[in-house]
Amino acid sequence: MTAAVPAGIEADVVVLGLGAAGVAAALTAAEAGADVLVLEKQAEDRHTPSAAFAGSMIMVTVDEDQAARYLVACAAGGTPEPECRAWARGAADLQDWLVQRCPGLTVHDLTGHHAGSIYPDLPGADGVVTREFRLPGQTAGSGELLHRMLLDRAVATGRVRIRWASPAEELLRVETGRVIGVRAADGTVVRARGGVVLATGGFENDPQACRTYLRAWPTYFTGNPGNTGDGLRMALALGADLWHMTVVIGRQCTHVQGPDGRWHNYQMGLTYDPFVVVDGEGRRYCDETAYVRIHTTWHEMQLWDHRKRSFSRVPSYWVFDSRRFARRLAAGAEPVRSTRPRWSDDNMAELERGWVVSGDTVRELGEKLGFPDPDELVRTVEGFAAGAPRGEDPFGRPAETMAPLDRPPYYAVRLFPGGVNTAGGPRHDASGRVLDVRGTPIAGLFAAGTVSQLIGHTYPSPGAGWSEALTTGRIAGAAAARGADDPPAEIPG
Ligand SMILES: Cc1cc2nc3c(=O)[nH]c(=O)nc-3n(C[C@H](O)[C@H](O)[C@H](O)COP(=O)(O)OP(=O)(O)OC[C@H]3O[C@@H](n4cnc5c(N)ncnc54)[C@H](O)[C@@H]3O)c2cc1C
Repeated sequence: MTAAVPAGIEADVVVLGLGAAGVAAALTAAEAGADVLVLEKQAEDRHTPSAAFAGSMIMVTVDEDQAARYLVACAAGGTPEPECRAWARGAADLQDWLVQRCPGLTVHDLTGHHAGSIYPDLPGADGVVTREFRLPGQTAGSGELLHRMLLDRAVATGRVRIRWASPAEELLRVETGRVIGVRAADGTVVRARGGVVLATGGFENDPQACRTYLRAWPTYFTGNPGNTGDGLRMALALGADLWHMTVVIGRQCTHVQGPDGRWHNYQMGLTYDPFVVVDGEGRRYCDETAYVRIHTTWHEMQLWDHRKRSFSRVPSYWVFDSRRFARRLAAGAEPVRSTRPRWSDDNMAELERGWVVSGDTVRELGEKLGFPDPDELVRTVEGFAAGAPRGEDPFGRPAETMAPLDRPPYYAVRLFPGGVNTAGGPRHDASGRVLDVRGTPIAGLFAAGTVSQLIGHTYPSPGAGWSEALTTGRIAGAAAARGADDPPAEIPG
C-alpha cells in the first residue's frame, strides 16, 4: 500500500497527520491533480488515529441555511458564522462523497437520540441528521474500516505518498511569511509547492497543554496517544491565533494502572441502568444521563470549589448496583492495533485490580472510596430511590432512567473529565487558512480536524466529529492543491 519516499522530498501538498482529516485532505488534493506527501507520526503497523476508535455515524446536512444556524448556536460564540456555514455546506454532499469513494458502503438512518441534532430546541436543528455508514456484512459501523477504505482510495490515486513514523516538528517559511515546507523530527526537510495541511489531531495527550488550556485537571482521553499537540505548537511558533481552547469533546473516562505499571484510560458505558454519579463527598450534582446522550457533562465536572480550593468533582464516582455490574462496564471500539488491554466482559479482572471498587452496602462502598462521611453516599442513594417512583429529581433527570439502587453488592468506578479529544487550536477561516494573531492568513498553511475543530461548547449531533474532520479535510486539501498553481520561493538553507 505504501510507496517509498525518495531523497530530496518535494510535493504540491504536504499533509501532516493521517487520521480522518488528513486522509480526506490527501484524497481531495490528489483528486484535484496535486502530488501529495503525507507525514504520519506513527509507524504503519502501530497507527491508531482517533478515527480508528470511532464508530461510523456521521452527521450530514439536509438544509444548509438551517444547519449553519444550528452550528452557530451550538458553538455559542466560539466559532464564527462563515466557518460554521462552510461546514454546513461541505457536509451537504458528504454522504455522496463517501459512497462514491468507498465501494459497497451502505447508508443507514438512525433512530432515537442518534438520529440527529442533540438540541432540537436550538434554531436550525432540523438542518442536520446523522446516518451510519457500514460495509457489506456489518451490523454496526466501524470508524477503523471507514478510515482504511479512504486511505486505500487515496493511495490508489497514485498521487499520495506516505512517510510513516515521521513526526513533523517545525514549519518552514520564507521572508514573506509564506509556509513552504516542514522539517520532520529526523531532520528531513519536505518542501510544499502549494501548501501544508495541519491535521495532527488535538493536544489531548499532552498533559502540560491540557493543564494550560483546559479548565479542570487532571483530564484523561481515550483516543490516539499520538495526538500530543504537535500541530498546535508548530502553529504557535508562527504566531497563529487560537480559538475555543477550553472546549473538549467530553466523555466519561476512568484512569487506571495495569499490573505492569502502565496507566490506561477507558471510556465507561454509563447507561440508563440505575446509577448515580457523585462528587468526592458522595453528592450528586447533575442529570447524569447527559453523560450518555451528549458530550457536555464534562462541563459539570469542572467546578472549582473555592472553599476547598480544589476541583471537588475530579474525580467523580459512577455508583451502581449488581444489575449494571453484570454487563461490561467499558464502552467504545478498540482498534486492532491498540495496545490498551481489553476490558473483560464480566469485569472480574478489573474488580480484582481495584479499578472497580465494591461494597456489600452503600456505606461500605463510601468507606472504601475514602469519602469523609460515608453516610453522605447513603443519603444520596436513598434520596435518589425516594424520587424514582415519582420521577422527581432536583437535577431534572428523565423519569424513565430512575430506579432505586437496591441490588447489592454496590460498585463504583472513578471518572475524570476528558474523553474524546480537545477541540481548540490554531484559528482558521472558512477556507481552512490558518490565521495569525492579527487575523491575517499565514500563506501556505491550512488546518483541518481536531487540531483546530469547528465544534464549540455544545456538541451538535452524533457523528459531528467525523463530519467536521472529513469536511474541513476536504476544504483544506482543495485549497492547498489550488495553492500549488502558485509555487512559493526557494526553501532557505
Ligand atoms: C473513543 C472515540 C470514539 C469516537 N467516536 C466517534 C463517533 O462515533 N463519531 C464521530 O463522528 N466521531 C467520533 N470520534 C471522534 C473522531 O474520531 C474524531 O473527530 C476524528 O477522528 C478526528 O480526526 P483527526 O484527523 O482530526 O484526528 P485523528 O484521527 O486522531 O488523526 C490525527 C493524526 O495525526 C497524527 N499526528 C499527530 N502528531 C503528528 C505529527 N507531529 N506529525 C505527523 N502526524 C502527526 C496522529 O498520529 C494521527 O494519525 C471518536 C473519537 C474517539 C477517541
